Amino acid sequence: MAGISLPGTTLLILCGTAGCGKSTFACRYFNEAMVVSSDRCRLLVGDSETNMAASREAFQLFRFTIERRLSLGRFTVADSTALTSQARRELLRIGRKYGFHVTLLIFNIPAEVCLARNAGRERRVICTEMARMQKKLQHTLQVAGSEGFDQVHVLSEEALDNSAFKIEIRSHEVTLPGPFDIIGDIHGCYEELTMLLDKLGYNKRSGHYTNPAGRKAVFSGDLTDRGPRSLDSFWLVKAMVDSGNALYIPGNHCRKLSRYLEGRNVKLANGLEKTVAEIEALPPDERDYFKEEFLRFYHEAPPYLILDRGKLVVSHGGIKEDMIGKVSERVRNFCFFGDTTGETTAEGLPVRRDWAQSYQGDALIVYGHTPVPEAVFVNNTIDIDQGCALGGKLTALRYPELTLTQVPALAAYYKRAGFRNDYSEPRNNVSTTIIDSTYC
Ligand code: ATP
Ligand code: MG
Repeated sequence: MAGISLPGTTLLILCGTAGCGKSTFACRYFNEAMVVSSDRCRLLVGDSETNMAASREAFQLFRFTIERRLSLGRFTVADSTALTSQARRELLRIGRKYGFHVTLLIFNIPAEVCLARNAGRERRVICTEMARMQKKLQHTLQVAGSEGFDQVHVLSEEALDNSAFKIEIRSHEVTLPGPFDIIGDIHGCYEELTMLLDKLGYNKRSGHYTNPAGRKAVFSGDLTDRGPRSLDSFWLVKAMVDSGNALYIPGNHCRKLSRYLEGRNVKLANGLEKTVAEIEALPPDERDYFKEEFLRFYHEAPPYLILDRGKLVVSHGGIKEDMIGKVSERVRNFCFFGDTTGETTAEGLPVRRDWAQSYQGDALIVYGHTPVPEAVFVNNTIDIDQGCALGGKLTALRYPELTLTQVPALAAYYKRAGFRNDYSEPRNNVSTTIIDSTYC
């Protein structure tokens, strides 16, 4: 086995006898925060990893912690022996409750190896107990395939010791079925964003917006630049993402802001100058805090999202059918900038094609980046950027309903050279070659 590839919303259940190497494996392949360990829970509630009398409380905490992580959409590894059908069934139930992909990883390590590893550590399991566990492992190997997991992998000793073994987390792939409210380019239009969230039925609680019907917002990038409240827009979106109420992908303006914050040489134009003015007006410690939080948020975000098990794809600049599922520099650039031709106009602006005209895929592609007067379906794609900061509208597409909810701009905050701001032009009159003045 060369490796395992898992969607971003996965509950990975480790399963194996004591001392087979589960915790060592988890520590090697995952961030500490992703791993919920039953032994660690035993330590937390009962003062020691070996306090068996605290098992009941420890497993309550174990399941509770896993459940809370899943409710926030976090990739999670359940580190316990999981050698009984009941233990696995309970974890599978929790995973299903949150729409997660549930994978079982069985450590098929010979008894003598586990006993030897056990002997070499402080926390030892007695031989008779190990024999009982081995019996359960053999049974698990027989029945796990029919227990309803999305994937079952059996890991041998050779695979464990193979340095080429890899685990890939496809963070762009989110198995959640929705329902979603996909929100187009905000560009600092904070007031309109709060009005749109109100209209969509979200309530503000404990500093972030939640939807009582359990809907999740999906932000299709470009949170800042041009409008009057870019920083507030960022903090609002971030709080929703952190609290599990939203998903976010970055746009080219997010990329440009991140490059500015990293000290690269970027031109303060196309609205970035307004965001920078907001940042510069902050006290130094708040400025540093914003920089740190924005960069982390931006760098952790996937380039695009595959949702509802492949039926829906959200990408800032759009995506071509053959790119879905892939993550490469070419795909990333397409997601940021759309289909650029590599040519530039006499004014030095990059030219891009209207890729949606030739899209033939089954997945619905929801994107932004190019402000158009109205959101119209074209070949199973829809552009939901109605140029709010330019005096247009802020749009949300409800999924799976496929209905639009919009808020008109309270003002035209920004004028863009060469951009027609009258919104009288119907979508099908938009030229198939668009001059992209937002490219950076
Ligand atoms: P438990 O179920 O008791 O928590 P575990 O499956 O988590 O056990 P670990 O604690 O990861 O097992 O490993 C048990 C011992 O085996 C540790 O001392 C560890 O250093 C050693 N070990 C783990 N994996 C390997 C490996 N691939 N090769 C050699 N030694 C290993
Ligand atoms: Mg362990």
